[in-house]
Amino acid sequence: MYDSIIIGSGPAGLTAAIYLSRAGLKNIIINGMEPGGQLTTTTEVENFPGFPQGISGPQLIKDIKAQSKNFGTEFLQAVVKDIENVENNGKKTFKLHLDNGNIIEAKTVILSTGASAKYLGIENEKENIGKGVSACATCDGFFYRGKDVVVIGGGDTAMEEAIFLTKFVNKVTIINRRDVLRASAIMQQRARDNEKIEWKLDYTPKKVLADEKVTGIELLNNKTGEIETLAADGIFVAIGRTPNTKFLEGKVEIDDRGYIITKGKSSKTSTAGIFAAGDVQDSKYQQAIIAAGSGAIAGLDVEEYLRENNL
Ligand code: NAP
Repeated sequence: MYDSIIIGSGPAGLTAAIYLSRAGLKNIIINGMEPGGQLTTTTEVENFPGFPQGISGPQLIKDIKAQSKNFGTEFLQAVVKDIENVENNGKKTFKLHLDNGNIIEAKTVILSTGASAKYLGIENEKENIGKGVSACATCDGFFYRGKDVVVIGGGDTAMEEAIFLTKFVNKVTIINRRDVLRASAIMQQRARDNEKIEWKLDYTPKKVLADEKVTGIELLNNKTGEIETLAADGIFVAIGRTPNTKFLEGKVEIDDRGYIITKGKSSKTSTAGIFAAGDVQDSKYQQAIIAAGSGAIAGLDVEEYLRENNL
């Protein structure tokens, strides 16, 4: 019986684990399908305090993991399929059903399964993630100083990413599959007012062009049916994120976009004993440092819950 099972091994889950282990609580992290989370697909992280020279995403995760291990956190490579509520002599516990058929039990659960960036699923895209294809302008924009890049998508995220990129790059071309944008009027206007932003509306991305790294993108002109190529050093995919909450339906309250609803500034979900931290409950900020901070909150909330319920 664990004091807490943490589902997800990004900065939120790992930080929660540090707090729990330092409090002497028995905890385990279930790594999930993307061990280390989205940071493992990022190159250099330059906005996480404490690293004046920056740090690579995978290295940062490795270091936080080592820190939690030093204090006694256990790790398990598995995927959680279901969470079962159990009553034990009037005390509430949870049984977690894993994809390998095993069941593990805990007094509390921390959900830190993150949100995955959506990608286009076109030819050559997956192979070039980290080599010119990115889903995070805040993480990778800096490396495109003076270059030409494209942003794919027509929502607020795409507008925001494109405007952010203009701080560094020579030119941003926004590519959208329709000639109507989904973004709010104000965000559209800000993008339209920006002289470094060009537009290719009603174009469907077909193929990422690359040698050693990305050189451009092949597009279908939806109006003419012709294939065009556009030279670019970077391709930023901004077509939305999906919180990883499918397996939680009916277990905790989730909003209409799939994010877990937490109470006030706490990590408490609608189910007592289940807590949430990181991007899975944060559709707005989605930054590593904020995920880590919310993991700390979850660690402290779990401690308090165990104490208050004499668990
Ligand atoms: P979104 O509003 O759902 O927009 C996604 C965009 O990507 C749409 O233009 C969509 O095209 C396009 N798209 C989706 N799948 C595609 C595909 N397979 N191929 C090509 N294009 C594809 O997502 P979002 O921009 O991430 O925003 C999500 C939510 O967060 C929104 O409610 C937004 O307002 C909010 N948000 C707000 C701010 C802000 O206010 N500062 C910033 C960021 C996000 P279609 O239109 O054709 O479907």
